[in-house]
Amino acid sequence: MVRKTLIAGNWKMNGLLEDGIALAKGVAAEAKKAARKDCEFLICPPFTLLTSAKKAIKGSRVLLGAQDCHFDGKGAHTGDISPLMLKDLGCQYVIVGHSERRTDHHESNELIAKKAAAAINAGLKVIICIGETEAEKDAGKTIDVCTAQIMGSVPEIATASNVVIAYEPVWAIGTGRTPTAAEVEEVHAAIRKVIGKKLGRANANKMRILYGGSMKPSNAKELLALPDVDGGLIGGASLKVADFMAIGEACKQ
Ligand code: PEP
Repeated sequence: MVRKTLIAGNWKMNGLLEDGIALAKGVAAEAKKAARKDCEFLICPPFTLLTSAKKAIKGSRVLLGAQDCHFDGKGAHTGDISPLMLKDLGCQYVIVGHSERRTDHHESNELIAKKAAAAINAGLKVIICIGETEAEKDAGKTIDVCTAQIMGSVPEIATASNVVIAYEPVWAIGTGRTPTAAEVEEVHAAIRKVIGKKLGRANANKMRILYGGSMKPSNAKELLALPDVDGGLIGGASLKVADFMAIGEACKQ
């Protein structure tokens, strides 16, 4: 089964106008030169930079995404952004359910599923994040936690064409620590089985499952070569053009 590799940068709450535009331009310029023509590059800047980033990547192969959205199309939700607004701005993707939102904003699986469904209905592709905490890993609950998160936060209308799963062990995010390659493959294969139970075998075989959590040029090749790893969701290393593009070059052929 050939699944198109996705190299996605989650800039989080980083970037003022000048450096954000320079980063987006840098990624666009390097993506033109990149040897790998068959993978997708995606940047997910903060809301404040989406319009300028869109201009900066114009005419390049780099795609644009946001880091969160509301589940309503419009209305009385002060400070929120709707999926329709993101689509209107030129976004192709949106991330939902990142562990920082699950923790900082107490987002539940149910809320994440509503956001994902709304984003799909607005014509966006959705990256749904899941992953266990360190305590859950130590208690041997990784697969159980991921199973519950998939069952609860992936909406019924999800298909392999509108949803990407990102497995991000919470303890690996921004820490420099990663699971072993064998652990990553074991969890990704288990995730694919759960997707099969929820959405059917065809969707499971075609759906992309990204790994996220301290992915960097030095470990990308090993992680991206794993059979059930279809790309990366990259935080810290996506803020440096050279590191982000080096991860792109490490994709499996
Ligand atoms: C993330 O938060 O999505 C992430 C993977 O961060 P980092 O690469 O910095 O660990």
